Amino acid sequence: PQKLLIIVTPTYVRPFQAYYLNQLAQTLRNVPPPLLWIVVEKSMQSAETAKILRGTGVVYRHLVCEHNATNIKDSGVHQRNVALAHIEKHHLDGIVYFADDDRIYSIGLFDQMRQIRRFGTWPVAMLGESKNKVLLEGPVCNGSEVIGWHTDQRTRISRRFHVDMAGFAFNSTILWDPKRWNRPTLEPIRQRAKIKGFQETTFIEQLVEDESQMEGLANCSEIMVWHLHLEAPELIYPRGWMMQKNLEVV
Ligand code: UDP
Repeated sequence: PQKLLIIVTPTYVRPFQAYYLNQLAQTLRNVPPPLLWIVVEKSMQSAETAKILRGTGVVYRHLVCEHNATNIKDSGVHQRNVALAHIEKHHLDGIVYFADDDRIYSIGLFDQMRQIRRFGTWPVAMLGESKNKVLLEGPVCNGSEVIGWHTDQRTRISRRFHVDMAGFAFNSTILWDPKRWNRPTLEPIRQRAKIKGFQETTFIEQLVEDESQMEGLANCSEIMVWHLHLEAPELIYPRGWMMQKNLEVV
């Protein structure tokens, strides 16, 4: 039988949510089963998210993360922890992948992921600070052996593993069967608010000891995920012009 894929997506209501979630749902719908989509929404189960999920044809669970009493942007850290606790509690057995709603995923990635034994990784392409520059983040490989990392200057020195949230997947049994992996029980993902890009490495350091326990997918020579940052944060809106709600025209 095919391995179960457990796709974890934090989401929240915002003007482009319908665009993001529908796009991801359409990708997931084309992935051969079994696949379980765990969508974790910030603060409450909104009617907007529920409606989109109902129409997708993907097997999903819609969870809520009540941690966020504040409006501080946390990049979904606590929501991912809610999903990890769910997987642990129910002993879901499969490959866990953090698929944020704002990335673009090639369908072949999901086939590749099913071959992961312990921890798989691959490079992600993202737009740099300037919209004309592309950065690669993730492993450099020799076959499936990870021998180095693509990285950018800012975080080069202090990060152990240079991996984007969408650049790795792992065996869920590490979460609830630590004896089998000879690992201590995992801590939740911690927020490193001020230093961007540390969420991934601090979590991955708990999953593997070093590169020798990693599997590079597709020789790490194929780009299978793109992180575009389509929002335009540099735009300054006149007071009252920012929209909070999901922009879905029916
Ligand atoms: N996200 C969320 N709540 C937030 C911020 C982000 O659910 O307060 C989700 C968002 O929908 C996406 C993921 O977390 O699935 C990553 O968000 P974003 O791209 O804004 O963070 P970045 O990748 O820039 O750190």
